[in-house]
Amino acid sequence: MNKRRYSNRRRKNILRVFILLMTIIITVVMWRTIKIDVQVGELTLPKILQSEKSFADTSGEWNLILVNRNHYIPNNYQVELTELSNGKKVDSRIYPELQQMFNDARAEGLALFVREGYRTTEEQQKIMDEKINEYEKQGYSAKEAKKRAEKYVAIPDTSEHQLGLSVDINADTDKCSSEKVYQWLDENAYKYGFVKRYPEDKTDITGISNEPWHYRYVGTTVAKIMKEENLCLEEYLEKYK
Ligand SMILES: [Zn+2]
Repeated sequence: MNKRRYSNRRRKNILRVFILLMTIIITVVMWRTIKIDVQVGELTLPKILQSEKSFADTSGEWNLILVNRNHYIPNNYQVELTELSNGKKVDSRIYPELQQMFNDARAEGLALFVREGYRTTEEQQKIMDEKINEYEKQGYSAKEAKKRAEKYVAIPDTSEHQLGLSVDINADTDKCSSEKVYQWLDENAYKYGFVKRYPEDKTDITGISNEPWHYRYVGTTVAKIMKEENLCLEEYLEKYK
């Protein structure tokens, strides 16, 4: 009799532990699912996507052309290029100040180079395809891989590199750290008319992740205002144009 009561109680205890464990597991699973949903939500809905897709206005000031994922570069956009010593090309109009900026940075002991300058639509498409491929290899579905790739790579015809007005600047890491170069650029590039186009605190507006290496030429007057007021290009144009 006593023995049976004891084993009944034991069974009840096991049941309680089992229910408790199941509750914990279900809670953890639900919490993770909700968290993933929120992350995907942020990934798919940057503010910039909420407005209509259109073509960039190239009839105004050339240095202020806004190109982003809903402002496509028109097919007939023409650019005169200057080739740098390492073979990369930029819009000829930004070359003198770009060169001056590099001269001054080097005079201060920095080792830096232009990793990327002008790109054609085809080159941009190739970069996008490679990134999508990379995510698919990690196991993402085609749709999800594309979505993730577009967070890091501009959709063809929405890359500023196709304007020739932007450069990716990297450190020669054998001689100098990336952090040093990024910091110098962050503090000084505006003096030469360049702005950090995709800052960490503006990703919800630009739709592009933090890129401390990507600098866009806007001219010294505008760059100074953007720097002083901490505005990204979208914000500057909204406020002043
Ligand atoms: Zn870039």
